[in-house]
Amino acid sequence: MKVNENFTGLSENYLFADIAKKVRAFRMQAPDADVISLGIGDVTQPLAPAVIEALHKAADEMATTTTFRGYGPERGYDFLREAIVTHDFCARGIDIEADEVFVSDGAKSDTGNFQELLSPESVVAVTDPVYPVYVDSNVMAGRRIVALPCTAENGFVPELPSEHVDVIYLCYPNNPTGTTLNKEQLKVWVDYAISEEALILYDAAYEAYIQSKDVPHSIYEIPGAKQCAVEFHSYSKTAGFTGIRCGYTVVPKDVKSERVKSEKSGLLETVSLNALWNRRQSTKFNGASYLSQRAAEAIYTPEGKAQTKATIAYYMANARLMREALTAMGFKVYGGVDAPYLWVSTPRGMTSWEFFDWMLQSAHVVCTPGVGFGGQGEGFVRLTAFGTHENTEKALRRIDSKL
Ligand code: PLP
Repeated sequence: MKVNENFTGLSENYLFADIAKKVRAFRMQAPDADVISLGIGDVTQPLAPAVIEALHKAADEMATTTTFRGYGPERGYDFLREAIVTHDFCARGIDIEADEVFVSDGAKSDTGNFQELLSPESVVAVTDPVYPVYVDSNVMAGRRIVALPCTAENGFVPELPSEHVDVIYLCYPNNPTGTTLNKEQLKVWVDYAISEEALILYDAAYEAYIQSKDVPHSIYEIPGAKQCAVEFHSYSKTAGFTGIRCGYTVVPKDVKSERVKSEKSGLLETVSLNALWNRRQSTKFNGASYLSQRAAEAIYTPEGKAQTKATIAYYMANARLMREALTAMGFKVYGGVDAPYLWVSTPRGMTSWEFFDWMLQSAHVVCTPGVGFGGQGEGFVRLTAFGTHENTEKALRRIDSKL
C-alpha cells in the first residue's frame, strides 16, 4: 500500500504537546509551585441544570422498549433542528429552513470534513493566525492554501486576497485573536464571494460570546450570504458541551457549486451543496447521540437559556478583568470583548515562546504561544477566559508582581 503523501506535507504542530512538556519539566524543577493555566481552550464550568435534567430524562427513555431510541434521522432529530431554526435564526429575522440544518457531533469534525465536497484544485484562503483544523484538513487533501495575514496593523481584519480563491474560511469571533468583524466588514467578504463565485466556510463557534450590537451572530445577517456561505455552530463553548459533543452546520439550499458535467446526462449542471453534504453525512456519519441532542434542545428552554447565559457572563467577567488588568500593566491587549480569547502582544520584543517561558518560570502561569497558530502569531500569546475567577485573579496578581 501507499499512504496519502499529502500527510507528509502537514506541519509538525506540537504546540500543545510542547506546552505540556515544558509545564511537566517546570513541575519537576519546582514541585511546590501552583501552576495556573490561562492557556486552556476547554471550559471549566459544569453543564447547566436544565441540560443535566434533559440528559437524565433521555437516559431514562433508553431504559424501556417503548421509548428506546436507536439510530436517529440523518440530519438530526426534528425537535433539535426546529429549536435551532426558531431560536438561532427566526429570532434574528433570518430565514433558514430545518432541512438546511445538519446536527453534528461538534464543529471540529464538520469544519474538517466539509472540504471533502471541494475539488482538489480548489484554492483555499485562511487567515493567519488560524484555527489549525482548516489548514490541516486541506493539506491532507493536497489543496493549495493562501494565507490572509491578520495583524495589529490591519486591526486583525483580513484583506481580500490578491488572487482568485475558491474557498475562504472565516472564524468570528476569532480563535485565537478574540477579535470580530462587524456587519460592514463581513459584507465585504460576502460581496467578494458572490462576485468570485467562491464559497465562505464560516465558523461561528464563539457566537454566544458576542456582546457588541454591530457584530453579527450569523453570516446570514448579511444579504446574499445564503447563496455563498456555509455556517458551523458548536455547543462546546456555548453551553459547555466539549465532553457531551453536539453542534450543527447550516448548508443553505441556494449554495451551489460551479457547473459540473453530469455523469448521467453529459450536460453541465449546478450541484447543491446541501444535497452533497447530505450524501456525505449519510455515508460517513451516524449522527450525534439522542442524549446529546436532547441535551442541546434543553439549551433553548427559558431555563436553559438563562443558565447558559450566566455561565458565559462568568467567563466574560474573567475576560474583562484580564483585559483591564493586563492593559493597566502596560500590555497591548486585543480581543476579549466579544470572545473568550485575548491576544496579547509580548513585551520588549520577546518571541512567543520566550514570553511563554517567562510567564511559566516567573509567574507560574501557562499561556499559549501565538506562533503555534501561524507565522503572524509570532510576538503574541493567547490567553483564555475559561478559568475560574479565583485562578484568573491570582494569575493576574502574580504576573503584575513579577513585571
Ligand atoms: N472551531 C473553532 C474556531 C474552535 O476553536 C473549536 C474548538 O476549540 C472548534 C471549532 C471545535 O469545536 P467542537 O468542540 O464543537 O468540535
